[in-house]
Amino acid sequence: MYISDVKNMFPALKRQVYGKRLVYLDNAATSQKPESVLALYDELSRKSNGNIHRAMHLLSNEATTAYEAARDRVASFINAPAREEVIFTSGATAAINLVASSFGRAFLKSGDKVMVTEAEHHSNIVPWQLACKYAGAELAVLPVSERGEIDLGIYEEMLDEGVKIVAAAHISNVLGVVNPVKEMVRMAHERSIPVLIDGAQGIVHSKVDVRDLDCDFYVFSGHKIYAPTGTGILYGKRKYLDIMPPYMGGGDMVGTVSFRGTTYAELPLKFEAGTPNFTAQACLLPALDFADMLRSDEELGAMISSVEKEIVEYVSEGLEQMEGVTLFGRGAEDRSNKIPLFSISVDGVHPSDIAQIMDKMGIALRSGMMCAEPLLTALGVTSVLRASFLPYNDMEDARTFMTGLQKALDMLKN
Ligand code: PMP
Repeated sequence: MYISDVKNMFPALKRQVYGKRLVYLDNAATSQKPESVLALYDELSRKSNGNIHRAMHLLSNEATTAYEAARDRVASFINAPAREEVIFTSGATAAINLVASSFGRAFLKSGDKVMVTEAEHHSNIVPWQLACKYAGAELAVLPVSERGEIDLGIYEEMLDEGVKIVAAAHISNVLGVVNPVKEMVRMAHERSIPVLIDGAQGIVHSKVDVRDLDCDFYVFSGHKIYAPTGTGILYGKRKYLDIMPPYMGGGDMVGTVSFRGTTYAELPLKFEAGTPNFTAQACLLPALDFADMLRSDEELGAMISSVEKEIVEYVSEGLEQMEGVTLFGRGAEDRSNKIPLFSISVDGVHPSDIAQIMDKMGIALRSGMMCAEPLLTALGVTSVLRASFLPYNDMEDARTFMTGLQKALDMLKN
């Protein structure tokens, strides 16, 4: 199998836009879905649309089976110790809000600190600001270096006894640099501080093993790893999930309900109030099967990782040589911690203008703040242009991007 065969499994990637071949490079925002995911979504919607966990009838049983099979698949994909520690949410944002709110209520008090990095997505800042506000706690912000890296020396200095939890991205959606999360967890645990990893970008670009990372919480969105939108995962260690109060009430999250008081369901349902997006969640199974296939097929896996490295080299080098272009998040000198995600600014040119022109060339990019305003402020810009690649992107896509960018800049600068 070649990368072109992988690409062929995605109907959206066969599209022409404005009469041009679509080069989809907005994968950090959402990935495209392969046939297997679309087919299951279609089949379940047509045939097995019964609300889960409740009814005796066949449609409900089929839907419940598919939903719970996806939970097992997530557990095996991230090597979770138990399926009960895998909670379905509507996305990474919802998962972080759940933890910030429930962990906050159980563990945060006045004077405590929550540590986040400077490079977090708003979804890993604002929920913690809310939790801190209610508890009278405060945020401690870990800076990132000029190359987009975390300095573990500074991290260690900041890990004092006031810190009650660390919340950090596995990979920033602006910098595209893999953070040393395993080491960060180890150092926090030496001081009995739990760690939440925002894996919205990490889940699709690295092999995630929550037992090996030993993180206390790992969150991600399904739609960035080939599954439908409205799907997400909170993995949490039972020792925390058992103590944390429910985040939302209603539906399946109860044991018994009376006006005198209510008991709660066991994990994982304790945190799954209301009718979930069960058809979409069920599609995490083929989505993660697909992601696994890309890695476990030895030949294909090797090809994908070598193409990824080639893209990182080619695009980083090309951008660094372009006049007036600044690449943020260059990572280590040998680029070993850089993924194919590139955010740039260009002197005198607005990123949205470049994105608009390149859209007409068939190249889908993202421009703006990337939901990371504090990071952009620290970088001294108000907007960036981002190109983000997945394993279905090849060198031809990378070359089309670089040629298109040069053309767009020539048009805008002259
Ligand atoms: N964290 C990071 C690092 C992200 O890239 C994103 C999405 N761009 C999120 C959190 C939020 O994900 P979602 O909108 O799917 O909840």
